[in-house]
Amino acid sequence: MSGLCGVVSRANCPEFLLFGTDYHSHLGSQLGGMALKGRRYEKKIHDISQGSFKFRFGGDVPAMEGTMGIGVISDSDAQPLLIRSRFGLYALAMTGFIENRDELTERLLQQGMVFTESSQTGVNGVELLARLIESGKDFVEGILSVFEHIEGASSMLLLTDDGILAARDLLGRTPLLIGERDSDYMVASESIALMNLGFCPVKELGPGEIVLINHDGFQVLREARPQMRMCSFLWVYTGYPAASYEGIGVEGARERCGAALARRDIVKADLATGVPDSGTGHGIGYAMEAGIPYRRALVKYTPGYGRSYIPPTQAMRDHVAKMKLLAVPEVVSGQRCVVCEDSIVRGTQLANFTVQKLWDAGAKEIHMRPACPPLMFPCKYGFSTRGLDELVTRRAIRSLEGNLTKNLERYLDAESEEHRRMVEWIADYVHVTTLRYQRLDDMIEAIGMPPNRLCTYCWTGRSSGFSDVKAGQCETANS
Ligand code: SF4
Repeated sequence: MSGLCGVVSRANCPEFLLFGTDYHSHLGSQLGGMALKGRRYEKKIHDISQGSFKFRFGGDVPAMEGTMGIGVISDSDAQPLLIRSRFGLYALAMTGFIENRDELTERLLQQGMVFTESSQTGVNGVELLARLIESGKDFVEGILSVFEHIEGASSMLLLTDDGILAARDLLGRTPLLIGERDSDYMVASESIALMNLGFCPVKELGPGEIVLINHDGFQVLREARPQMRMCSFLWVYTGYPAASYEGIGVEGARERCGAALARRDIVKADLATGVPDSGTGHGIGYAMEAGIPYRRALVKYTPGYGRSYIPPTQAMRDHVAKMKLLAVPEVVSGQRCVVCEDSIVRGTQLANFTVQKLWDAGAKEIHMRPACPPLMFPCKYGFSTRGLDELVTRRAIRSLEGNLTKNLERYLDAESEEHRRMVEWIADYVHVTTLRYQRLDDMIEAIGMPPNRLCTYCWTGRSSGFSDVKAGQCETANS
């Protein structure tokens, strides 16, 4: 994952850019970068895997200078890149994922293009984007060429002589919005970047929209397209509680998710809780609807630990997961606990750390309630790096069927016997008393966007809303 921030200011702006970019730290943990345009272009890129963005770049900022700049937090490519092109010098940063990266690279190499940057996965995706941009007759046509050629999703910021060009990916999977403060502008992936820095949101870019932001204001260069497939996971998991997208707040959506879970539940519990951080809102919603207390059965030791799905290796993720969460015995002991979690991806951390800690703290029963349906497909739009065989659902299917894909349509049908057995297998694996997943229709209703404007690929294998997959749920008991 990654997050973007850009600033256009009448005064020197490195500090605003530093803090604005830092507010995207929940979206990545590996690399950070800033590029400024003042009397000249300059850029800095640092490894942020061992220290926060703020910490890594704080020492650079006093020596940096410029009234326009872009910043990025990234888990894959080193960026922003400074590109010398036939349109002039510019800096480029992107968020998203280019699924056909290898194929495009090969095609451009055949055309005589040269790549100088590299990443862990081959060619640097930002440089690949730059080569595609340069195939257009100007920046805007170049960005349209990117949209035309890439499979996946890419939103981007270009820092040019004329201002910052902001482009949201073609189907609006990733957010991008503009804020204004006394004729200064910030463009960011996350609305929370604007809030504490005094910028008022003035425009959310639509799918495929391209906007130029400079000292004269902002100007739409390409209108938004009508089709949208915004990532549902932004509300369920990845978004920050105070953030909002398309006018819909993250925390409110999470509370509605939790309430939906409670409305369909039959279990009797003494308390509801959430796995922090993103499970908290779901848990609060559950408690309010069920009329039982919300209690902090689990707390996170925040300093120094990020989100455990972000570190690239399982060993690192396990280490973070083990260290960061603590169960509170005086809350948990002897209690029947409903535990809301945003989702179950691999299930390993839930089984080995979260649930085990609750049992060790004396829980009487643990009723796990994920806020979304079972994850059946890895995201192919850059929101995570997990593979098919990492998903606990697919491991369940492999265990039950001998391979990862057999009878898949049956397992996707939430009312089928196969689906019930898969959920039962997962309940057993994560070692909970009961496991009841959210229904797809309930999750979409809780988010509050029309189904055909949301991406739900990771649950259905189809790009939006409802499919012919039935949207039911099932509960299993694990004694
Ligand atoms: S596949 Fe899932 S994580 Fe990826 S964009 Fe779609 S909803 Fe979001």
